[in-house]
Amino acid sequence: MSEKKYRIESVLAQIGSIEEPVTGAVNYPIYQATAFRHPRLGQSTGFDYSRTKSPTRAVLEEAAAALEAGDAGFACSSGMAALQTVFTLFASGDHLIVSLDLYGGTYRLLERVLSKYGVTASYVDTNDLSALEEARQPNTKAVFIETPTNPLMMVTDIRAVSQWARDHGLVTIVDNTLLTPFFQRPIELGADIVVHSATKYLGGHNDVLAGLIVSKGKELSEEIAFLHNSIGAVLGPTDSYQLMRGMKTLALRMERHQSNALAIAKHLQNHPQVTEVFYPGLPDHPGYEIQNAQSSGNTGIFSFRVSDARYVEPVLRHLKLIAFAESLGGVESLMTYPAVQTHADIPAHVRDAVGVDDRLLRFSVGIEHVDDLIQDLDQALEAARAEVEGGSKNE
Ligand SMILES: *Cc1c(COP(=O)(O)O)cnc(C)c1O
Repeated sequence: MSEKKYRIESVLAQIGSIEEPVTGAVNYPIYQATAFRHPRLGQSTGFDYSRTKSPTRAVLEEAAAALEAGDAGFACSSGMAALQTVFTLFASGDHLIVSLDLYGGTYRLLERVLSKYGVTASYVDTNDLSALEEARQPNTKAVFIETPTNPLMMVTDIRAVSQWARDHGLVTIVDNTLLTPFFQRPIELGADIVVHSATKYLGGHNDVLAGLIVSKGKELSEEIAFLHNSIGAVLGPTDSYQLMRGMKTLALRMERHQSNALAIAKHLQNHPQVTEVFYPGLPDHPGYEIQNAQSSGNTGIFSFRVSDARYVEPVLRHLKLIAFAESLGGVESLMTYPAVQTHADIPAHVRDAVGVDDRLLRFSVGIEHVDDLIQDLDQALEAARAEVEGGSKNE
């Protein structure tokens, strides 16, 4: 099947359905082999040793490259493994410009691991070209963007930043975990590399840990292929299969995640115990216009601030349908408290500067019925209010 001819829903549904030549199996099988027999000296089936290339993983990698409009795809053992592989493009003395409101694990990798190898990073509002210009140093090699950011959902103009980066000979890397290629394709907007925590929406079921890299251009793709094999943080055959299984329903899931998230974000905007809702699908969000211009839809997560930090603990305790857990992007709804969970590794002063404070909750909206989710949130907020007010009266 040529992916160019079909719309993305069809490409997704047919991942791996097309290439198994021996039996015609509709789903590409799990090749649980690490070594591959050579026909004779100097010949290869195309597979030698599975760290370098493995059949099931190769089908996933090809699909990833096609979906993200890139030239090559690489499947890694986690999103962090994908990030580590990409950051290894850089050498001691190199400098990166990075989105300010960043996934905590990426910040930790840069500040506590990459820093040991002499790679430095400046954190700026990547939607402010003058801030980018100010952060640029003679040794700057790349710009790393998350858009929208997690948890504050700040939107960066990928086209504008990629253009600026190209003008200065810098590589643009986009973490596209939150929107997936179903809603946003950064390479089409000018980026050079896309990374994913495929653990999130691509896998979609909170049951497989995986990362993906997609690159544009022959030279860059060859360099990443070399690093992917040399570092070896590759995805196993069974996980590759499971990820493809999840990706087949990506279109349906993203549409439901989006509609649920928008309805609940609107509901919470009018809730007396909520002061702010951060969701780029809301017309009053500062990134609304850019988001609409560069993406065909919105993610299923948003953050909100409750009016009193004392509500947080009882809200998390009283939720019934929504689980109090970190992670995002699965069919099951999860509520996270970023300041103590996902973003705990970011120093308090940095968290405060971006607004990840003690009143902020992040909601990864699942595909349950929207009315059940709203009911669960409402009862938890009400129970929290009753506890906090009861407590104050007793003081
Ligand atoms: C989860 C996440 C990561 C890390 O991915 P893992 O699969 O957990 O290693 C990176 N970036 C973003 C935006 C994430 O949400």
